[in-house]
Amino acid sequence: MFDSFKKIFSGEGEEPVSTTGKPDISREKSAELYEKAKLYFPGGVNSPVRAFKSVYGTPLFIQKGDGSQIWDADGNQFVDYCCSWGPLILGHNNAKVREKVIEVMQNGMSFGAPTALENELAELILKHNKYIEKIRFVSSGTEAVMSAIRLARGYTKRNKILKFEGCYHGHVDALLVKAGSGLVTFGETSSAGIPKAFADETIVVSLNDKEALLKAFEDFKDQIAAVIIEPVPANNGLLLQHKEFLQYLRNVCTQNGTLLIFDEVISGFRVGFEGAAGYYQIKPDIITYGKIIGGGMPVGAYGSSAEVMSNISPEGPVYQAGTLSGNPVAMAAGIAQLTELLRLGFYRDLNNKTEEFTEAVQRFATARNYKFKVFTIGSIFWFAFTDKDIRKAEDIDPASMEKFKKLHRELINRGVYLGPSGYEVGFISAAHTKIDLEKTKRAIFDSLDVVFRDK
Ligand SMILES: *Cc1c(COP(=O)(O)O)cnc(C)c1O
Repeated sequence: MFDSFKKIFSGEGEEPVSTTGKPDISREKSAELYEKAKLYFPGGVNSPVRAFKSVYGTPLFIQKGDGSQIWDADGNQFVDYCCSWGPLILGHNNAKVREKVIEVMQNGMSFGAPTALENELAELILKHNKYIEKIRFVSSGTEAVMSAIRLARGYTKRNKILKFEGCYHGHVDALLVKAGSGLVTFGETSSAGIPKAFADETIVVSLNDKEALLKAFEDFKDQIAAVIIEPVPANNGLLLQHKEFLQYLRNVCTQNGTLLIFDEVISGFRVGFEGAAGYYQIKPDIITYGKIIGGGMPVGAYGSSAEVMSNISPEGPVYQAGTLSGNPVAMAAGIAQLTELLRLGFYRDLNNKTEEFTEAVQRFATARNYKFKVFTIGSIFWFAFTDKDIRKAEDIDPASMEKFKKLHRELINRGVYLGPSGYEVGFISAAHTKIDLEKTKRAIFDSLDVVFRDK
């Protein structure tokens, strides 16, 4: 019955433990839970990356989190750099967020009618963000992106969308597409269940490629409703773009009457309170948010100028709605979290801490001559087994992920939890202490020695 459980503990079908590596932690309880979960959920999970398909072993079932630490079902403790994939910029179980949520919950959890809390969160955001004038709350990043695209299409009365290879925008049909071969291509769907006709409305080009962008605008003159980009592409490695490229993109959109959408579901409130728009000082037409905005609760949002937003129903003709949109408990978490982020020096401290950490790791790898690079911005980092300057998805060598797989296992065994894929970035939270980071550095140094010694 417990096939994968047996497999893991007999070592059957798995590569042998490195002679220099640490022994594997116990995953007995997690493995049991996983077997059960497989009876209930496709692949045993409610979101695919959680299944640990690209790293070693059974997925860890998490029991609790506090500050920078998480504990799994077997009682193993880790310093967590996944941070729920980004939302937990204050760390786990932050007292301010928790207390605000409990206070609000005592008055009921949902009304489907407006509450003052929605005003409060909107005011917190809009007062401190010069790039948008009005906002609409939804319940996930995917929903925010889907709505932003409908808005752009409704506003411009055009159909086509341009996206970049290697940017992730949630599981929106029109955006689950990847590039075909050629400079400018219609997307090929990257998921079953998406009509080709949908993908035909999506143009895909490479990041950091002005030539391809220009050709797309020539080929599809006056047809492109919106260009959508993660201004800090952080879902397929960390593909940092030159400010100059983003500025170029802004100008091309303006010249062609195309709306520029910054998908800031990760970068929003992460690389600064004003996100990437503020970081690069570039004003997109629509911005989408998610992750951090909800303080760990399911919240997404999209915002734009008052003029563009006036197209949303009930003011305008673009329909968009949500039973739990602006949910008071979720708003409460967002309010409590964003209030902390506005404290003077919050981002300076967090970013300095991250810089110190990533520089130390890079210094170690460089001194050892390891083919290993740390890419970083704000409090986001990405470990890549490369010596190249990676700025587009095509530059990532899939074979390098074998090394990540080993690194992940070594780190787990040393009490450090990274997201279970080499294409995912790591996050540092305000709760990560100097001691956590020192411990993590040592774990990384030892693990890299194992990874590169094993060959
Ligand atoms: C996470 C993410 C999404 C999807 O958000 P969900 O809340 O998972 O639906 C969309 N865009 C970007 C840039 C993201 O990082």
